[in-house]
Amino acid sequence: MYMASKNLRYIKEKLQKMYKMLIEGISQYQSSDDWKNLLDFISIQHNYSFHNLVLIMLQKPDATFVAGYKKWLKYGRHVKKGEHGIMIWAPRLKKVRQVKKEIVVEVDPVTGEEIEKEVDVEYYTNVLVGFFPVYVFDVSQTEGRPLPRLTHEVTSELPDDLKYDIFVSVCQNIADENDFTLKFEPILGSTHGYMNPVTRAIVIDNTYNYQSQIKTMIHEFTHMFLFLDGYTHGDASDIDNRVLTYNDEEVIVESVAYIVSKYLGLDTSEYSFRYISSYGGNPELLLDLGTVILRYAMMFLEK
Ligand SMILES: [Zn+2]
Repeated sequence: MYMASKNLRYIKEKLQKMYKMLIEGISQYQSSDDWKNLLDFISIQHNYSFHNLVLIMLQKPDATFVAGYKKWLKYGRHVKKGEHGIMIWAPRLKKVRQVKKEIVVEVDPVTGEEIEKEVDVEYYTNVLVGFFPVYVFDVSQTEGRPLPRLTHEVTSELPDDLKYDIFVSVCQNIADENDFTLKFEPILGSTHGYMNPVTRAIVIDNTYNYQSQIKTMIHEFTHMFLFLDGYTHGDASDIDNRVLTYNDEEVIVESVAYIVSKYLGLDTSEYSFRYISSYGGNPELLLDLGTVILRYAMMFLEK
């Protein structure tokens, strides 16, 4: 489709260039304040219980990110004068000694026989003994070090010659050819889309803008291509045997999404670099996965 007037070598050379931009971009991003702010910001966030989330919302309905006084200080922000904390309940835990029976096999030093023996093994568990009130503060009640920029969408402009409808119909054809269905519907949470290999469906969240949806289509279709090519998941990636870790697969598919988008004139770096980095993608890994990334970027453009 996109190859109509351009030859294969031209595309390959251009993709190589985009791939280099990806590696340089990731390297720059990971030494930027934005990435450092994000890592530090994540380190002070805490998973609040449902009950506490309700308490937070009741006391401060516009709260977005909350953390304790000291946690904010750790990040480099301080609570503004006169701000009142939001009260939540923290569990009071007590270490309790427990004993369990375990069977061990011992070798009799005289006869050399294996003997099974039951022994007591002691261990400690945390037991909930009550709750005590603690105070947290919403980000709006603090000031200091800038917050990480959290873009949920591709915000750069959609180039004139990249038409959303045409792109969707190309993807529709790819789905049909491979006996997959392509659906557009709102998805709960921050997920932009997903590929389900069991139901052979690709679902794209159509509440995001066109730029984001195009990028997400490339991302999800690359998941599909990998699945159709027999890639499976494992604890360690082994490219020759088509085994990938979940993280490496995300790094590959988002890299393909970045490269192909860039090829089509759409810059997704603001979203993609953070995404790739958060799945452990770094310049070294991108070099290791380079052949796979370029193969699938090429595959997309051949369609
Ligand atoms: Zn994915």
